[in-house]
Amino acid sequence: MARIEYAPAPESRSVVHLRPSYGLFIDGEFVEPTLGEHYTSVNPADETALAEVSEGSAADVDLAVRAARRAFTRWSRMPGAERAKYLYRIARILQERAREFAVLETLDNGKPIKESRDTDIPLAAAWFFHYAGWADKLEYAGLGPDPRPLGVAGQVIPWNFPMLMLAWKVAPALAGGNTVVLKPAQTTPLTALLFAEVCQQADLPAGVVNIVTGHNDTGAAVVAHKGVDKIAFTGSTAVGRRIAEAVAGTHKRVTLELGGKGANIVFADAAIDQAVEGVVHGIYFNQGHVCCAGSRLLVQESIAEEFVARLKRRMGTLRVGDPLDKNTDVGAINSSMQLARISELADSGVAEGATMWQADCALPSRGFWFAPTLFTDVAQSHRIAREEIFGPVLSTLTFRTPSEAIEKANNTQYGLAAGIWTEKGSLILKMANELRAGVVWANTYNKFDPASPFGGYKESGYGREGGRQGLAAYLEGDRA
Ligand code: NAD
Repeated sequence: MARIEYAPAPESRSVVHLRPSYGLFIDGEFVEPTLGEHYTSVNPADETALAEVSEGSAADVDLAVRAARRAFTRWSRMPGAERAKYLYRIARILQERAREFAVLETLDNGKPIKESRDTDIPLAAAWFFHYAGWADKLEYAGLGPDPRPLGVAGQVIPWNFPMLMLAWKVAPALAGGNTVVLKPAQTTPLTALLFAEVCQQADLPAGVVNIVTGHNDTGAAVVAHKGVDKIAFTGSTAVGRRIAEAVAGTHKRVTLELGGKGANIVFADAAIDQAVEGVVHGIYFNQGHVCCAGSRLLVQESIAEEFVARLKRRMGTLRVGDPLDKNTDVGAINSSMQLARISELADSGVAEGATMWQADCALPSRGFWFAPTLFTDVAQSHRIAREEIFGPVLSTLTFRTPSEAIEKANNTQYGLAAGIWTEKGSLILKMANELRAGVVWANTYNKFDPASPFGGYKESGYGREGGRQGLAAYLEGDRA
């Protein structure tokens, strides 16, 4: 199967109006950081500078938390139906400005425009619509007749789905009557800053949403601040562990959405081409920068050879390159640091004896790129089978029986997501029951819905985001 050549179909950059420099968004306004420090956010696809962004200090975090505390009094007492109007307004503005958000997300993150356009931004809007609907129905959150907001939520998010992770955090917090201080990831702050403009456009009361950009110390300052009542973190397990330690023994509530090493399990009776498609989507979507990526392929031994051959053929058709081109399937790696980590882990796979195969594709000379990669001859002890690579790298293992598949799939420190591919319904139910994963997809992968709770077992974190459970994480009530 040859790669079909398409004429370039670049999305226009001109829909985005970047400011040369951004302040912090505190108390409804953009303000300069107290220490006057800035850093540059770059486009990972070509390493060009996009904008200067403020480096928030502990003093800035303090200002943001104070603003959020002041705003909490009014926001938490506002009838839920009134809060809902703001959330609906934000959701509609996100839809109206979806193209602008999608282009900006792609510029700042490196993900293909068709993903930011068709997945990230529509889902972000959907999250606000969903939680707008909850704002006047908090008594149905499962916490008794009169649940109360927690107060000020400190929220720290990663770079892989910048705008979507913001929506996952901000929408339920606001619906419940909380106010927020959000720290976006250092490499992808720009859509959060555009969201700050949306808050202004929606006339959201000042201080309800505060956005403090910066590096890891800024996140640590949010976590450490005594005026924060709830910490919501999405990111790596290593940092999640540090945060759990930092909040232990304080009054702060915490939810952690951490890493994963999802198994995509293909049985011999599966519809093979659909399964190939699902496996490709499971690991090469968003360059594999997906916490719930199906980064371990478990394929039944009797079809392994044929499956891998078809998988390679399909991988050979993936178009890697300019993220703004509407034909692109796989974009840029988000940062040089992440590229170094992916390369190091791929090298370890070869060194430990696995066989590496890469799709034959020309990578751009500037920017951060890694070709879609497949490992076979992988042992469970290999690092590439155990550690989260967070890149476009798939490790293949085989199994003979369902119980062997379950044992191998569960043989991980993580427990975020898994996929099952079979025509047999009873097998799907048995597997789903026995897999230790927060989300199990059957004959599909990477499907998200704001009504559906998402979260992990084991070192993938604790707490759930999405649906009623995601709302309850921002409330306290008389019923646990
Ligand atoms: P990271 O943990 O390095 O950083 C995440 C965020 O935490 C960033 O904003 C960073 O500045 C901040 N941070 C770093 N150190 C901190 C500290 N000591 N205190 C407070 N904040 C701190 O992760 P990353 O590299 O940005 O993201 C990739 C990771 O995120 C992957 O492991 C991935 O699996 C995970 N992730 C999980 C989910 C999920 O829902 N489970 C979703 C997306 C990403």
